[in-house]
Amino acid sequence: MTPNKITTIAIIGAGFSGVATALHLLKFELIKPIKVMLIDTIESFGKGLAYVTEDDNLVLNVPIGNMSLFSDQPNDFLDFCQKIDASLNSGSFVFRRIYGEYLQARLQQAKTDYPQNFIKLKDFVTGISQSNNCFILDLKSGSQVQADKVVMAFGHFQSKPLAEILPKNAINPAIDNNILLDSSWDICALDRLRTDQNVLILGAGHTAIDTLFRLVSKGVQRKIYLVSRHGYMPNGHRKAGEFIKLPILTKEIEIKVKEELKINPTIRTLFSTLRQLTKNHMAQQGNWRDVITSLRQITPEIWRGLSVKERRRFLTHIVHLWDVLRHRIAPVAMRRLDLLIASGKVEVIAGRIKQLNPDGNSINAVISLRRTNQNQEVKIGSVINCTGPNYDINRVINPLVRQLTELRILQQDELKLGFKVDEQYRCSHIQHLYYIGPMLKASHWEAIAVPELRTHALNLANILVES
Ligand SMILES: Cc1cc2nc3c(=O)[nH]c(=O)nc-3n(C[C@H](O)[C@H](O)[C@H](O)COP(=O)(O)OP(=O)(O)OC[C@H]3O[C@@H](n4cnc5c(N)ncnc54)[C@H](O)[C@@H]3O)c2cc1C
Repeated sequence: MTPNKITTIAIIGAGFSGVATALHLLKFELIKPIKVMLIDTIESFGKGLAYVTEDDNLVLNVPIGNMSLFSDQPNDFLDFCQKIDASLNSGSFVFRRIYGEYLQARLQQAKTDYPQNFIKLKDFVTGISQSNNCFILDLKSGSQVQADKVVMAFGHFQSKPLAEILPKNAINPAIDNNILLDSSWDICALDRLRTDQNVLILGAGHTAIDTLFRLVSKGVQRKIYLVSRHGYMPNGHRKAGEFIKLPILTKEIEIKVKEELKINPTIRTLFSTLRQLTKNHMAQQGNWRDVITSLRQITPEIWRGLSVKERRRFLTHIVHLWDVLRHRIAPVAMRRLDLLIASGKVEVIAGRIKQLNPDGNSINAVISLRRTNQNQEVKIGSVINCTGPNYDINRVINPLVRQLTELRILQQDELKLGFKVDEQYRCSHIQHLYYIGPMLKASHWEAIAVPELRTHALNLANILVES
């Protein structure tokens, strides 16, 4: 940056990634003259997709102690929470709504602290071009804004529609499209479903559990089927006590895993090493979760060290297991899920939907069961797609992403996990155009949750002020 010249940095998207980048950048304001323009179209500016919810059925899946916006101020979220309830500690899990309030509170504070340097712009960016060494952003409102640097933080993309996920011809054309919900993110559509009919949720990850809790909270008698290929459900976090930091075990595991992978960088080596480490740890009364947690910091390094062939092997054979071990839910959510399954209100089915046929006012779903290959038929009122966000950019409908993909500024990685992004967070040769967000998964694998994204936000802020 040239000293004294004010550099305008536009951030497209005010979800967690955009907000964290903006707040880190503003901290540099005393050293470098900058103006940060945070642009998003949503009403609840600053909350993004994950924390916009006001539904207290939904609890964070990471304990308070790991959810600070700033990795260099690890107690920031804890302090915020303790002002609400002094008995909360770093191991507690709070409502997702509270996290949305936290993000907005920190944004508000930034507006007060840096009134000249921080602009919130409510609009939608439809295109990016360059003119005279600066970027021109076209806005849906019809106007344009200029910036010296641009950060793309446009977040998650909706999953593929059911018609593309299910086998060809699985959906009988006579079925009313309104009862096939392509996205569980549309809460209003969920609430409009008939409460006296059973529901089939496709998927069994976090999105499915969120949807399930929303549906059962409506206090109705319907039964909910959770259908996924393997029928695995997420595990819960450890039940009680402070959130445990594991520096010694982590170091030990890091060293061992890296040593083994140096000799043989394969998925087989990685998982046989992990199996052995878990066995040893549990033999000393340890918890298997500690081993998985210990791997988190070095996951990007491990991922980059694997060939595309090995990564593909992981995605084909291991990922369904990895997801349920790694992506755990809060103990209260786990307890609730266990009780729902035990009560029979929720049935978990391992299988694939073969056919959806109309049956009066309902749908008859034919599911091919994984273990027996036989069919199970269930009568339902609707199907909800909870297969999680889409990482295949060719399926994204966001007009800005479409434009940038056509210009090859955004490029898909080989495994369709996200964007190709270099170590400086650049997607292309274009100077001063950066990306941050869940599509970093392609190069880091572990990149979609707060503990990772906040570190990326800090790194990116450093790059932005230094370049
Ligand atoms: C339901 C859910 C629950 C989660 N729970 C947890 C949790 O408990 N703990 C945890 O650590 N992680 C959790 N995560 C993961 C994590 O926090 C998210 O991945 C993170 O919120 C990503 O933020 P983001 O800003 O990159 O994307 P998003 O939150 O998707 O925000 C992107 C924003 O960009 C805006 N936008 C898009 N295109 C444009 C455009 N062209 N112009 C202007 N604005 C645009 C959108 O309106 C949106 O507000 C959760 C994720 C989800 C989806």
